[in-house]
Amino acid sequence: MANMSPKKVEMPEQNPNERNKNFLEVALGYTEQMAIEEATRCLNCKHKPCVSGCPVNVKIPEFITLVADGKFEEAYEKIKETNSLPAICGRVCPQESQCEQICVRAKKGESVAIGRLERFVADWYIKNVNSSKDKPTTNNKKVAIIGSGPASLTCAGDLANMGYSVTIFEAFHVPGGVLMYGIPEFRLPKEIVQKEIDKIKQLGVEIKTNMVIGKVFSLDELLEEGYQAIFVGSGAGLPNFMSIPGENLNGVYSANEFLTRINLMKAYRFPEYDTPVVIGKNVAVIGGGNVAMDAARSAKRLGAENVYIIYRRSEDEMPARLEEVHHAKEEGIIFKVLTNPTSILGTDDGWVKAMECIEMELGEPDSSGRRRPVPKEGSQHIIDVETVIVAIGQSPNPLISSTTTGLETQKWGGIVADESTGATSKKGIFAGGDVVTGAATVILAMGAGKKAAEAIDEYLKKL
Ligand SMILES: Cc1cc2nc3c(=O)[nH]c(=O)nc-3n(C[C@H](O)[C@H](O)[C@H](O)COP(=O)(O)OP(=O)(O)OC[C@H]3O[C@@H](n4cnc5c(N)ncnc54)[C@H](O)[C@@H]3O)c2cc1C
Repeated sequence: MANMSPKKVEMPEQNPNERNKNFLEVALGYTEQMAIEEATRCLNCKHKPCVSGCPVNVKIPEFITLVADGKFEEAYEKIKETNSLPAICGRVCPQESQCEQICVRAKKGESVAIGRLERFVADWYIKNVNSSKDKPTTNNKKVAIIGSGPASLTCAGDLANMGYSVTIFEAFHVPGGVLMYGIPEFRLPKEIVQKEIDKIKQLGVEIKTNMVIGKVFSLDELLEEGYQAIFVGSGAGLPNFMSIPGENLNGVYSANEFLTRINLMKAYRFPEYDTPVVIGKNVAVIGGGNVAMDAARSAKRLGAENVYIIYRRSEDEMPARLEEVHHAKEEGIIFKVLTNPTSILGTDDGWVKAMECIEMELGEPDSSGRRRPVPKEGSQHIIDVETVIVAIGQSPNPLISSTTTGLETQKWGGIVADESTGATSKKGIFAGGDVVTGAATVILAMGAGKKAAEAIDEYLKKL
């Protein structure tokens, strides 16, 4: 008999006034009892709409039934059939706009907490089992993978399981992509990401760090070196700026630099780690996506008294996950919506001292379908801030495409690749994730890595 409660079983969280001073994980996860109780809310319906809402088609009702029966290890194996990074997806996937959005239970109440259950199962497995698979026998065919974010890790894991000899080339000194350098510890503990990376290494995947492809080797050189296929999963790490006066003052960061200093270089543990980060009493974060929320919540944790989210549209148009907006508000972040910066003002010695903004109104819908923000005449005003963090989007770095012959790119820098195979205009080179779609999500990047692994296998079998 299904549990017909219209509400999800709540997941315990750190208190907002405590957690906004530390970098420990905010959400604490379900206990076994909570997970079983939530799992019994699933109706195990015939048409399983949730499965089609998941970009990697996790067998959701099947794994949830196993949780309801207390068979947690089997539930993990079921998820792993299609999702190689469940502990990560259970934490950061936008389930509210994917599987949970079309859950039948959402018609008359809250959906089944699919993300929380996925996270529970993955964490339970890491804590209680965590066995590693035997290294697959290799077929001696070499594949190079550029970047080590979720697209690349998925592609590498799948290819290694098929017997290929896989080498990942990563520009940073630590693998993991945005999972390591972008998403903060309080949302995604790095230990969890490291464990997933270790599992991929146990399959025989070699990870070479500090290898900036396009500088150390070009893709053409890697092909000459004997790699028979290449997957490019180099992401979209080049920050966009607003091009307003004052953007080059001291105290202005791109969200990417700010978060990289904190996550990858552990600036929040300065001077134990030697990367500093300058943070004023008043901080403005410009943007309304997940990146902006992460930057604002990190600034608060670093001791800023007033942290403002400055967003030019209304809260309804904010691209950030609802949960992130909710958590940010609970932690005391101040939302200034329908507000756009026009210039950043500096002190005589070149540091930020304030920002001039203008209020906005929503006009007719633009090409994205969202109502276009238009400035309200005479509404200019000054906000006193000492730090400005720009989080208005990222693009792919042109380094790889500009150093490769015959690789077609979009005007905005993305690599052109077939949606179902990742094949690019150049023979033997495949691409997927943010470098193809522009900044998107972890699960979409993983889906692209998975499809590319299958296509690379097909391609290499025919060689
Ligand atoms: C702060 C932040 C928060 C986010 N929050 C969420 C969230 O909550 N949920 C969600 O689903 N998505 C979120 N995203 C988006 C998500 O993280 C990305 O869509 C996803 O990581 C893209 O994966 P990828 O594998 O394509 O690239 P990335 O994760 O960007 O990895 C690319 C890797 O390639 C490396 N690289 C780049 N150039 C080279 C080169 N020339 N040579 C070698 N290596 C290179 C980079 O160093 C990097 O490690 C967030 C993004 C950011 C920045």
